[in-house]
Amino acid sequence: MLNINTLVRPCIARLKPYSCARDEFKGEARVFVDANENPFDENKYNRYPDPLQLAVKQRIAELKKVRATQIMLGNGSDEPIDLIYRIFCEPTVNNAVAIAPTYGMYGVCADINNVEYRSVNLNNDYSLDANRLLAAVDANTRVIWLCSPNNPTGNLLNRSEIKKVLEGFGGIVVIDEAYVDFASEESWLSELDNYPNLVVLQTFSKAWGMASVRCGMAFASEEIIGYFNKVKYPYNINKLTQEFVLNRLQNVELKEKQTKIILGERPKLALELEKLALVEKVYASDANFLLVKVNDAPKIYNQLAQKGIVVRSRHNIVLCNNCLRITIGTADENKVIVETLKEL
Ligand SMILES: *Cc1c(COP(=O)(O)O)cnc(C)c1O
Repeated sequence: MLNINTLVRPCIARLKPYSCARDEFKGEARVFVDANENPFDENKYNRYPDPLQLAVKQRIAELKKVRATQIMLGNGSDEPIDLIYRIFCEPTVNNAVAIAPTYGMYGVCADINNVEYRSVNLNNDYSLDANRLLAAVDANTRVIWLCSPNNPTGNLLNRSEIKKVLEGFGGIVVIDEAYVDFASEESWLSELDNYPNLVVLQTFSKAWGMASVRCGMAFASEEIIGYFNKVKYPYNINKLTQEFVLNRLQNVELKEKQTKIILGERPKLALELEKLALVEKVYASDANFLLVKVNDAPKIYNQLAQKGIVVRSRHNIVLCNNCLRITIGTADENKVIVETLKEL
C-alpha cells in the first residue's frame, strides 16, 4: 500500500503551515476584526477571499463528479506543476521522469527547483512505451509527467500503457489533461479513488475560454490535496477570479457549443492542409490544435508571420522536425490560414 507521506520532502512533512485569519475562524459573524482589513465595503473587495475557494470547488465537483476535497485550484496549471516539485522533490536529490516531446513547463519548473529532469522519448508515432519510461526510474524518482492528449503532438496516450505506469511506479504520476474536453476518450478523474498516486491536471484556459483569468485545477486524493493546501500561498485565488469562474461554470452549454464548433472545424482544417504541396503530414489530433509536418518549417513560419499569421514552430523539439503547431480557430480564421498557405 502506497504511503504518500514517505514521498513528501522532509521539510514539507514537518511544515507547520501559515494559519490565516480565515483558517482560524470559518462561518458567519456580526463583526470581523481579525484580519486588519478595511471595514468599508463600497467596492465589495475589502475582505480577504476564501483561501480554499469552496463555492467554486463545489460547482467543479458537481460537474466533474469528484469530491470538492479532491480539488486544488491554482494560478493556471503552472501553480500545481511548480507545487508538485516543491512538495515531492528534494532539490539535487530527487528526480522527475517525463515523456518527450511534451509541455515545456514540467522541465522549466524542474530547473527552477534544481530537480533533475529525465526525458524519455515517445515512440516515432508519438505513442507511449511504459516499459521504456519506467526504465528511467530509480530510487530517487518521485514524479512521472504524462500529458494526454499530449502537447504538442495532439494524441491521447494509450490507456493500458498509462495504467502500466500508474501500477509500476511507487511515486506520483501526473496526467495533464489540459485538452481533455476535445478528446474522444474519458478523463482519468474517475480513476482517482483507484490510484492514490494519481494527480490529474485540468485548466480553464482552453475549452472553457478563460486563459486570461489564470485558473487551473489539480485533482488527487485528499491526502495529496492536503499537501497542496499546506504549501500554496494562503489566498492564491483572488475573489474576482473565484466569482468569474463560478459564474462561467453556470453556463456549461456555451462551453459545449464552442467545443463542438472547434471539433467540427478540426477535420475540415486537417483535410485542407493535407491537400497542400508544402504539407507532408497532418498528425491525428485529440486536441484543439493540429501538429503539421511541412517541407521547411522555419521558412514557412516566417512567411506566415510576415502575413500576420502566427503559428507555433516546434521545429527544434525532439521528434518534431519541421513541425508547426496550429490552433483550430474560427471557420474564418482557418480559411485565412489555408488560403495564405496556398499562396506561399
Ligand atoms: C495550455 C496547457 C496548460 C494550461 O496551462 P494554464 O497555466 O492552466 O493556462 C497545461 N498543460 C498543457 C499541456 C497545456 O498545453
